[in-house]
Amino acid sequence: MGNVVVVGAGIAGIQAALDIAAHGIPVHLIEREPTIGGHMAMLDKTFPTNDCSMCILSPKMVDVARHPDITIHTCSEVEKIAGGIGHFRVTIKKHPRYIDESTCTGCGDCILVCPVEVYNHFDAGIGVRKAIYKPHSQAVPDIVIKDPDHCIECGLCYDVCGPGSVKREDSEQELVLDAASIVLSTGYSVFDAQKKPQFGHLSLPDVVTSLELERMINASGPTGGKIRRMSTGKTPESIVFIQCVGSRDMPLGRPYCSCVCCMQAIKNAILIKEKNPAMDVTICYMDIRSYGKGYEEYYERAKALGIRFLRGMPSDILADKNGLILQVENSETSEILMMHPELVVLSVGMGPAESLPDLARRFGIALEETGFVRTMHDALDTTSTLRPGIYVAGTAVAPKDIPDSVASGESAAMRAFRDAFRLRSA
Ligand code: SF4
Ligand code: SF4
Ligand code: SF4
Repeated sequence: MGNVVVVGAGIAGIQAALDIAAHGIPVHLIEREPTIGGHMAMLDKTFPTNDCSMCILSPKMVDVARHPDITIHTCSEVEKIAGGIGHFRVTIKKHPRYIDESTCTGCGDCILVCPVEVYNHFDAGIGVRKAIYKPHSQAVPDIVIKDPDHCIECGLCYDVCGPGSVKREDSEQELVLDAASIVLSTGYSVFDAQKKPQFGHLSLPDVVTSLELERMINASGPTGGKIRRMSTGKTPESIVFIQCVGSRDMPLGRPYCSCVCCMQAIKNAILIKEKNPAMDVTICYMDIRSYGKGYEEYYERAKALGIRFLRGMPSDILADKNGLILQVENSETSEILMMHPELVVLSVGMGPAESLPDLARRFGIALEETGFVRTMHDALDTTSTLRPGIYVAGTAVAPKDIPDSVASGESAAMRAFRDAFRLRSA
């Protein structure tokens, strides 16, 4: 008793776990993926400072792994909860990793010999991984996972593994945890651009999403940091970003602004332009939302670099034998423009995590119409759910950038700590 369970180990959940454990309260950190870190681990740089995303995230991931009061449960999901504030019982299901976690050293020898290559979720589909793999080089825990759906049982990884850590058979395990309080930090899902078929994602090879671009720009990503046309493998001479894809879209039931995609596009445009000054870079937008500390200055810096901001949105993307065609009305001048970019980036919005409706049912908490978690008050209390003892952090509440997600993790941690502390002092 007196523990806290944190569900979801992105930056908000990591921050919440570290803050709670810093007060001597034991934390169980539950993550469905094989590593902690969430979406932030996929990003290249952060705005407006252009800090390397992993350089600021990785030390926190390591702190979590080393903290004596934090227990990490990866490949794990909440099955059910019972009880109430001060005496929750949280049942988690741990999916099989097919690896002995206590002996795997993370050396990677098994990855080198594995002959199977499949779609890499972590590289947003533009890279491949093996059937036995680490999600990325700075994964925590620093061990591999075997994917039974793609393994062909060639046996090579069993032979090469010195400690004999690869398992032929493995099974689900169930664990019941006591908790005084719970923090939900389930993160977000990225809008599926195929729901806007007029933009040709996956049918036109030179149309990519903002997350795919992040992986391309990242030096440790599948292209080694080089921007590439997927059709030719060559560096594009011109790029157009299309904003608000899957955000501010009433017919899609996504009326909200995703908060981060204007600044993310500006950041990526700056990084591209700084490396390729001759490249023609345009951002097509409805409104530019640069509301945070230093954000407006960052926007001005982009303009000074020669990045073109065009107020107008193409209704679709066409293609002929010469490449992509976009027709855009500049809403400031009423001029109709025909553009022929070599690469188009769709700035896809944030939605609630796909697991959230099911989790909300299990936790007995309410969701908004948009699918994000309903909190006690939209202005004065954005971390307490309507069920006492269950708090929410990060983008499970609404789209947020990294600084706001960290602040939200800290806020939820304070409330969850208060419940656990009261129990310990009673
Ligand atoms: Fe190394 Fe074996 Fe772990 Fe693979 S399973 S990373 S070979 S210790
Ligand atoms: Fe890869 Fe499976 Fe062969 Fe291991 S047994 S090397 S995971 S295909
Ligand atoms: Fe559109 Fe910008 Fe809001 Fe994203 S942040 S939804 S691109 S206005």
